[in-house]
Amino acid sequence: MLSGKVAMVTASTHGIGFAIARRLARDGAQVMISSRKKENVDKALEQLQAEGLSVSGIVCHVGKREDREALVSKTLERHGAIDILVSNAAVNPFAGSTLDCSETAWDKIFEINVKAPFLLAKLVVPHMEQRGGGSIVLVGSAAGYQPFPAIGPYSVSKTALLGLTKVLANELAPANIRVNCLAPGAIRTQFSSVLWSDDSLRQKLEATIAMRRIGEPDECAGTVSFLCSQDAAYITGETIVVAGGFHSRL
Ligand code: NAP
Repeated sequence: MLSGKVAMVTASTHGIGFAIARRLARDGAQVMISSRKKENVDKALEQLQAEGLSVSGIVCHVGKREDREALVSKTLERHGAIDILVSNAAVNPFAGSTLDCSETAWDKIFEINVKAPFLLAKLVVPHMEQRGGGSIVLVGSAAGYQPFPAIGPYSVSKTALLGLTKVLANELAPANIRVNCLAPGAIRTQFSSVLWSDDSLRQKLEATIAMRRIGEPDECAGTVSFLCSQDAAYITGETIVVAGGFHSRL
């Protein structure tokens, strides 16, 4: 499905990003994986290469300009082009009442969750234009539609991504670059472990999900591969919620 395409996936050494990188590679793309810690990049690379997939890796903290630039230049150097960007990195350094969030935590959330995807898009678009088009997928959250309890600032950052998806989709459509968003619900990863590692909390959470279970990272990956494929050639500016029926919108 993605044969001949080159994909860059941020925060892709664990969890949803790793599942997306693996799926894009299994579907034929050459994939550049990345995250902050070299040992995580090396371990993920080893695992994917053992499956015979065409992947390379680099350290990239999406909040660091030199890392973002290196991610783009190394992808071009190793794979010769960029057709797909999956912007997956996010942080949540705060839980509690929103007005108790410090300015530092607020800035961090918006720097990593909203500003970095914008800056990465800015870097890759000229290379997509050279290829005659491309596909960008921003990883948002169902919390962008229906704020999760106690993580208000994070939820607001994910709502901002819904807007960024629409704005970029409109502006980049003439260049044949499609921009869409994946909005996962509760997915079993390290990031969300506080929600599911305790049995009683997990049961409370599952009661809010129509399918009464937490999702798995692999259940997010096929949607991203579809959005990057020719099958989605006429889809842009859309957000697909993968949340087992967790209430998100009409
Ligand atoms: P995860 O399993 O905890 O994985 C996080 C990945 O991000 C790791 O590979 C980590 O590696 C990397 N990372 C963290 N900070 C980074 C940074 N600043 N720059 C680059 N890489 C970074 O997380 P996840 O649950 O898969 O979350 C992925 C995305 O899904 C996020 O955008 C999150 O908001 C969204 N999401 C998750 C859920 C859920 O329930 N899990 C629900 C809705 C939305 P290093 O430590 O090596 O950097």
